[in-house]
Amino acid sequence: MSEAPLDVASLLGPEGPIARRLEDFEVRPQQLELSLAVEQALANGKHLVAEAGTGTGKSFAYLLPAAMHADRRQGDGPVVISTRTIALQEQLERKDLPLLHAVLPFEWSSVTAIGRNNYLCLRRMHQAEREQTLFEDPERHAQLRKIVDWSLNAGDGTRQELDFPPRPEVWESVQAEHGNCLQRACKHFDQCYWQRARRRMQTAQVLVVNHALYFADLALRIAGASYLPAHRVVVFDEAHHLEKTATESLGLRVGRSTVGWHLRRIHKRRGERTLLSRHGSGAAKLLWEEALQLNDAFFDSLQGRVRAGDSSSASVALRGEALQENLSPILRALSGELAAAALRTERVDEQMELQARANGLDGLCQTLKALCTPNPDAETPLVRWLEPSRHGAQLCAAPLDVSGALRQHLFEGGATTILTSATLATGDDDRFSWLRDQIGLDDAETLRVGSPFDFDRAVDFVIEEAMPDPARESQTYRREVAERCERHVLDNGGRALILCTSWDFVRFLAQQLRPLCNQEGIELLVQGEQPLARLLERKRDEENSVLIGTDSLWEGIDVRGDALTLLIVTRLPFASPGHPLTQARMDLMRERGQQPFGEHSLPEAILKFRQGFGRLIRGQRDRGKVVVMDPRIRTKAYGRKFVDALPFSDDYVSPSSGI
Ligand code: SF4
Repeated sequence: MSEAPLDVASLLGPEGPIARRLEDFEVRPQQLELSLAVEQALANGKHLVAEAGTGTGKSFAYLLPAAMHADRRQGDGPVVISTRTIALQEQLERKDLPLLHAVLPFEWSSVTAIGRNNYLCLRRMHQAEREQTLFEDPERHAQLRKIVDWSLNAGDGTRQELDFPPRPEVWESVQAEHGNCLQRACKHFDQCYWQRARRRMQTAQVLVVNHALYFADLALRIAGASYLPAHRVVVFDEAHHLEKTATESLGLRVGRSTVGWHLRRIHKRRGERTLLSRHGSGAAKLLWEEALQLNDAFFDSLQGRVRAGDSSSASVALRGEALQENLSPILRALSGELAAAALRTERVDEQMELQARANGLDGLCQTLKALCTPNPDAETPLVRWLEPSRHGAQLCAAPLDVSGALRQHLFEGGATTILTSATLATGDDDRFSWLRDQIGLDDAETLRVGSPFDFDRAVDFVIEEAMPDPARESQTYRREVAERCERHVLDNGGRALILCTSWDFVRFLAQQLRPLCNQEGIELLVQGEQPLARLLERKRDEENSVLIGTDSLWEGIDVRGDALTLLIVTRLPFASPGHPLTQARMDLMRERGQQPFGEHSLPEAILKFRQGFGRLIRGQRDRGKVVVMDPRIRTKAYGRKFVDALPFSDDYVSPSSGI
């Protein structure tokens, strides 16, 4: 009998190896269509933007052609798969990739790449161990001992393998670091966990990363270095986040604690035998003291400005203002002292350590300079602002527009990209123009496949009647939302997710709902009160619980079945226009003759609304109600666009909303 041809259609078909292996496998035409489109894009070297609704089996649809392409094109480097969330990365690692390995009839390798600092450096660990007095407090000393013991039988040598969370300063004393590696000259080279991981990364056919790592690597590549191996294909899942992740990765951020961290890695005021106490001159120690004081003074002055800032905006725009600071000359002088000490030292280990710290201070000085100096004529101007944080004011900057950098270094840089997500379109635009404009993707194939779920039958869509306008009557609106949430939660026996658009409103609503939930024996889960993973675990375990939250709960969370049958959208998710970066981008749009509301705020909010809606129906058997409490969906001309963006059929008539 001749072997079946190895193509996507036969592999995903009813008689294919996947159907034979998985009892509950259903042939999904949407999955096959996506998979074929990815296969074709890879074969033709064309970028592809593809939206695939919930339940399509999207990850398997791209992994299959990706693995086959990697096998056919060995020598082109790995096919890189990038996800935004750890949850999706874990799903690929634990479920999809093992299944794919089992069904594909050829040998291939897949590896998950994480940042270098997650790996143990054996040389630095032994060096830290030799410095018996590196940590004066017994707990940190004991942690170092535990790491030494673990290293004898460690698996992949990553921090995640430890059975305790190491204190940051302990792990930093033993982690692998850029610019602090002896490479082949290191006597631990053959056993080195990081080097082994690097070799696995270099030879992998499929390499799984997250967006943050991918864009950190892109920033390195723009600067002439790299971390990930050279590759010709990258698949971005959860691709609606690319612009945000690129903005963060290509941006800058320094606070008092950032400078303090660099200084603490060199010296401490009391006790311990620090790098500076072992090698520093008297002048270096004075510089260190001075840097510490100037750091406090500089960030105290910035903190004063954040407090005095306009109360409607938490962050303070710096626009064209140059900030005066006298911290970086001292940091630079300290760096020079460390570099000089490195030259005086005979031991290679100590030389490496001193030089790495000196380089770190130099990099910090460059960042501070970029943050303090306006650069309106730069190819990609930075928007600069002051931002409050738990640790005081932070000095921040981000590119005004990332499309140019992404166009040049990602989309025209040689790699074929596949961008996919359950939500990429902002309405009926099947070319995904809004997303593509933001990220500079000019030329791409596009595909939109719907969900196999029947939303008309599965969802009762309700728009609350007679709600006050949240923008004009905010206090009445808050009270009404609280009262109506109580009623819906009671009617539904809990089992709800309530999506808000601010932390303030989350706290307010939690306070209002708590007495009722206590009385009814409904567990109230509030974002911010426990880690998100723990909240989701509780939500799944306690089916009648109610989860309230903002931002990250609008997407990427997966609660199936009876634990979630009521989704309340308290307000349409327009982003706050007050942030300096948003304001600067809006100003740029006006300068270009564009309409910031219609061409940015609205599509962004529609995309987020679609993501929020997508939390309710996660499986074929899921049923439930979506309640929208924002009257603007009915009263404003743009409101209809939110409704039209939902996956109902044209003749859907909601029993409650009248659509
Ligand atoms: S090769 Fe580099 S990372 Fe590995 S143990 Fe040696 S110095 Fe550390």
